[in-house]
Order: sequence, then structure tokens, then C-alpha cells
Amino acid sequence: MNDDEDIGRALPERGLPAERVLGDVRALRKGDRPTHGGRLFAYVYDPAVPGLDELAAAAHAECAHVNGLDPTAFPSLLAMENALVGAASRLLGGGTGTTAPDVVGSVTSGGTESLILAVKAARDARPDITAPRIAVPVTAHAAFAKAAHYLRVTLDPVPVDPVTLRPSVAAVAAAVVPDTVLVACSAPSYAHGVVDPVAGIASVAAEAGARCHVDACFGGWTLPWLRRLGVPVPPFDFAVAGVTSISVDLHKYAYAPKGVSVLLHREPALRAPQFFAYADWPGYTMVNPVIASTRSGGPIAAAYATLRHLGEDGYLRLAAATRDAVAGLADAVGGTGGLRLLAEPESTVVCFTSTDPGLDLFVLVDELTARGWHTQPQLAYGDLPASVHLTVTAAVAPRVAEFGPDLAAAVAAARAAGPVGLPAELAALAAALTPDALTPELVAGLAAALGLGPAAAGPGGSAPGAIVNTLLDAAPPALRERLLVEFVGLLQRPTY
Ligand SMILES: *Cc1c(COP(=O)(O)O)cnc(C)c1O
Repeated sequence: MNDDEDIGRALPERGLPAERVLGDVRALRKGDRPTHGGRLFAYVYDPAVPGLDELAAAAHAECAHVNGLDPTAFPSLLAMENALVGAASRLLGGGTGTTAPDVVGSVTSGGTESLILAVKAARDARPDITAPRIAVPVTAHAAFAKAAHYLRVTLDPVPVDPVTLRPSVAAVAAAVVPDTVLVACSAPSYAHGVVDPVAGIASVAAEAGARCHVDACFGGWTLPWLRRLGVPVPPFDFAVAGVTSISVDLHKYAYAPKGVSVLLHREPALRAPQFFAYADWPGYTMVNPVIASTRSGGPIAAAYATLRHLGEDGYLRLAAATRDAVAGLADAVGGTGGLRLLAEPESTVVCFTSTDPGLDLFVLVDELTARGWHTQPQLAYGDLPASVHLTVTAAVAPRVAEFGPDLAAAVAAARAAGPVGLPAELAALAAALTPDALTPELVAGLAAALGLGPAAAGPGGSAPGAIVNTLLDAAPPALRERLLVEFVGLLQRPTY
């Protein structure tokens, strides 16, 4: 039914029947990693709740054409946004009690947008500071660097302890200067899943007159439930004095379809500089709380439906299943010679490294992939070794018993294969190259040597992960960045 020649064309000469087109989408999807089934430890968040996908899709379809541009034209969307912000606020220390802070917020398209807006609000609240800065632990999400880059704010990196994987409060204090408009911390960090010392950091920020953003994009919808289940969770939300804003992604552990995060501010005055209003043109008067102007109601309605369907009891049940899965996976890692947990799991991440030079983590990742487990390799950084990251969701729970034996087999296979030996010319290149010396020809040659590029990226194509990761791992960050840009530039080419 689908000939490959045609499937890459979005605009055929004659329109195709709906059934055929849907078939094409499904055919394209066959090359993807499995979004369901509990064997993909990144990118997707799956509660494995029967009927939830169908409900969210129906709610999405109901509102896909509704436009969040004007909340007065579509009160349905305003009501759902306010409900989502209210739910996030109540979960994170805001609320309606007389002692609770008067938290307000916005629904954004994702964690990155939430962080960019938190930085924008902090920057624009201080027009007196001409060269604003933000202090950010090196383990905080890369989206803070993106925000700094987009907004022309200087990022002051705060080092972390290589054992605890957290910044000390003293290290944060040392990075704060009079031009610091915002101090960041994570609850928890994406890479390692550890919670920063939020209370100490927030108090440093408050003392300096700076804002303190808690990036709970990952953990904001799990830590509160884990705490209710008795897991020791340090204070990280608006209960902590000095915390001025918090981000939480609903498209992560609230299990909503992609495109929904919430950015909360402790009080309305803190949020005001986040907005952009413009009336100095002949068109409609514009006020945008977030970056996008036209916004689909689809993701918001899908998130609203998801939260209402799962409810507090549902999220508690899913958090308990996830906690047990984390413990099971951590046991499997701990019981495997040559591997070491990089951090004791305290949330929903399992992160491990290799203690045996004969056991190459990037080879292990490929061996796990070959056994149907899709993990996320993390390159070495500073004092921190390369590691493997597992984002654990409720759907993993029924799979945990299968993981240990497969991990043992993958480790044995990786040991037998031995570490990746980069071809000599590639190793020399990675060591000697500077980003400026990268010519298009060199990049094309590298990509071909690595088997990258559009030909390798088609459905079913498999990138030679270990070699690419080893090459990137051997390169300093600036060269890594250039190579990544060039490689993805090769993938993103129009099909005609
Ligand atoms: C995922 C994540 C982000 C970025 O969120 P996106 O939705 O991918 O833009 C930021 N911070 C943390 C801690 C995250 O886990």
C-alpha cells in the first residue's frame, strides 16, 4: 500500500484518501522507538493506564483548533489553564489557605519555555541592571543555558560536588554577584535525579535580592506524591522562603501528551514582567503571557483530561509503582559487577557508570538496545564520568524482573566486545579539531565514516551509537556542540 518513494512527500499532486494517509503515518512510525511497553527510559512518560491515550486524544481533538491567543474569545481554554495552574500550585505549596502564598502561573509548551520565561521575568524585573547574570549549577538543565543565550543574560556556572552531584550552598553564594537576577536549582536534576539544597540556595538568593527558580520540570509531579508515600523528600517548593518561581512539566510525570508545562510565581507582581503586550501597531492589541502567540488548545485540554481522569489517587498509585520499579532497577545495577550507581536513587532516575575499563558504557548501551531496552547515554563532563540514565515511569514496573538478566547478558557481551576503538584518523581528528576548523567537507566525511546522515536515519535505520558517542566523548564541549549542529543539519533536509 505504501511505496517508499511517495511516503516522504507531504504534498502529492492529488490528495489521498484519509485511510491511506493514516496508514502512511503508521508506516512511518514503525521506525520509532517504542513509546509504550516500559522499555524506553527517556523521551516518553507512560503510566500504562488503559484508555488514557484515547481520552487524551479525544480531548485534544476537541480543542485542537481553539486558539489561546485571546482568552476572552475561548473561555474554555482559560478555564482549563486556570485549573491546571491551580492543581500545580496546590501540589507545590501554593493554595487558598490564609497562610499560603498567592501563587499565579502560566501554561507553557514545555520545560524549556518555562525556564526561558522564568529568566525573562527575572531579567525584565531589573531594568536597572544593564548586564544581568544568572547563577546556575552545572547539573541544571541545559535549557538555562539556552535561556541565557536567547536573552543575552550571562550564565555563571556553579560547580557541583562530584560525589553528591549537588552544588554546595557556599558554591552558589560564591557565584552570586550584585548583577545576579536569578539563582537556579533543580528538584531533581534530570541527569542524576538528585535534589539540590533548595532551602539554602533560596536563602542565599533572597539575601542577595535575586530570584530563586526551582526547576521541578522533572520532579514537580512526582516528589509530592513520593513524600505522601513516606519517601524522605527535602523541602523544595513554595513552603521554602525565598523560592520565587517553580516549573513543572505536565508532559512528564503528569503523563499528559507533549506540549504542556506550568510556570508558577510566588505572587502576581513577580509574574508581570513575564508578559509581553504590544499595542503600537495597526493590528489587534496583543498580550502574550508566554512565548507563542497563537496556541493550540489541544495539549491543554489533553492535560486537563489526563489530570481529571487520574486524580490524586491515580497519581499516588502510579508514584508507588514507579518507586518500586526504581528500587528494582537500582538493585539490578547494584548486583551487576563492573557497574556502580552514580547516585542513590531519591526520585525516579536510575543513573549508573562503569567501574571497569574493560566495560565500555557506550557499547553496553548498544547491547541493551539490541535486547530491546532503550537507555540514555550521558557523556563525561568535568570530574563526572560518562553514565547511563534511566528515566523510570510507572509503565516500567511490570518489566523490572526482565531487566536484571538482560543487563547481565548485555554487560557480558559488552565486556566480550571490548571498548570502542575509534578508527585512528577519527581519534586524531577529535583530539586536534577546533570548532572553527570544521569545514562542510570535513563534516560530510565524518558523517559518512560514522554512517550518519539522511540515508542512515530512515525508518529502521540504526545509528552506530557507541562510535558516535565515543567520538563526542573524546571532544571538548565546544566541538561536541558544533558536531551536533552539523550532524543534525545533515538530517534535517527537505524531501521532495
Ligand atoms: C525535561 C526538563 C527540562 C526541559 O523540558 P522540555 O519539556 O524538554 O523543554 C528542563 N528541566 C528539567 C529538570 C527537565 O527534566
